Amino acid sequence: MSQISEKIAIRAREELFINIQPIQAGGRLTPEAMKAMIAYGDGYSTCDWCLKPFRLDKIRKPPIDEFHAELADFLGMDQVRVFPGARRGFQAVASTLVEKGDTVIVSGLAHYTEFLTIEIVGGIAREVPPNEDNIITGEATAQKIEEVKRETGKLPKLIMMEHFDYVFGNEHDIRGIAKVAKEYDIPLLYNGAYSIGLMPVDGRKIGADFLVGSGHKSFASPAPSGLLATTDEWAEKVFRTSRATGDLTGRRFEGKEVELLGCTLMGANLIAMMASFPTIRERVKRWSEEVRKSNRFVKEFLKIEGNKVLSEMPRKHTLTRVDTTGSFDEIARTHKRRGFFLTKELKERKIVGPFPGATKKWKLNTYGLTWKQVEYLAWAFKDIAKKYGIPVRE
Ligand SMILES: *Cc1c(COP(=O)(O)O)cnc(C)c1O
Repeated sequence: MSQISEKIAIRAREELFINIQPIQAGGRLTPEAMKAMIAYGDGYSTCDWCLKPFRLDKIRKPPIDEFHAELADFLGMDQVRVFPGARRGFQAVASTLVEKGDTVIVSGLAHYTEFLTIEIVGGIAREVPPNEDNIITGEATAQKIEEVKRETGKLPKLIMMEHFDYVFGNEHDIRGIAKVAKEYDIPLLYNGAYSIGLMPVDGRKIGADFLVGSGHKSFASPAPSGLLATTDEWAEKVFRTSRATGDLTGRRFEGKEVELLGCTLMGANLIAMMASFPTIRERVKRWSEEVRKSNRFVKEFLKIEGNKVLSEMPRKHTLTRVDTTGSFDEIARTHKRRGFFLTKELKERKIVGPFPGATKKWKLNTYGLTWKQVEYLAWAFKDIAKKYGIPVRE
């Protein structure tokens, strides 16, 4: 292995291994994004042609303005801005809509970044319970809204809901939830961290007021990157411009969007997103094949006695939560390396990604693997099982 510098090793996981790490699959860069990272890596590289009104989304060279328009169109929304991660998109919305003491509805499977963005503005998160299949329904959302109304005398200010959650990769009833949001006239933020950039997402069809996506999770982009798309109506509020005046100098910054702190992804991160966009447009059309591969893997994985899938079945996503307490964990209990035996056996077969040492409940993501790699992955797990005397159905 060679080094980048004395203390930094080359990272070659994607080149040397099959990586099934749950959060990394959709963020792997395209070759075009890699080139963009190098060419636009210098700090304020995107500012070469930043002319009046000095706004990132208005730059024409490279065509950042065009990218914004096309991205909004791709998402079925009127306007979009890029953000340093989905979390900063949540924050822009929460900071605009939620005041101290206001309630925000989230999922019982919500990501921690939603809680933190609500906390930062002094809001109170209230969770909708998932049903026995770990699905959030419109009905359960309506019940939670009623509960909040009864207890506080007020309606929640915002609903933040994931289409696919990060725990199970289950699909939630986002359209049903959008319908409920409309009925109560509460704005809906669609959390597409695990969907935008992987599958077709149309905000208008869903009935969402805000769409938030993660560049580094699902848009073949570097960290941090993400997006927030919305309607013209909400854009006026969330993308409002500065009204501040310097008391001494009288300076004003009227073109700058407050929630974006002026500019967001200056430089390589944005140009890499742009560079990946043509691939993203094409790859979302192949999502159903990714889901078929996911189901193919799971079917083989379940042939190992004691293996369980905790996510909904059949799979509708490539992220899957599994339970190997009844199989690999049985081995780990008496193995001198404990759970790390599985990590090592996988690594010897050139597979990385499961949480090191985990043999009970853990997650994997098959996104982007070829059919051949999927078959190989399934074979590898079965091969390890056989080696340790765990029965495998054929
Ligand atoms: C990863 C993830 C986030 C955070 O995304 P960032 O782009 O890293 O801020 C938010 N919500 C869900 C459901 C996620 O899986």
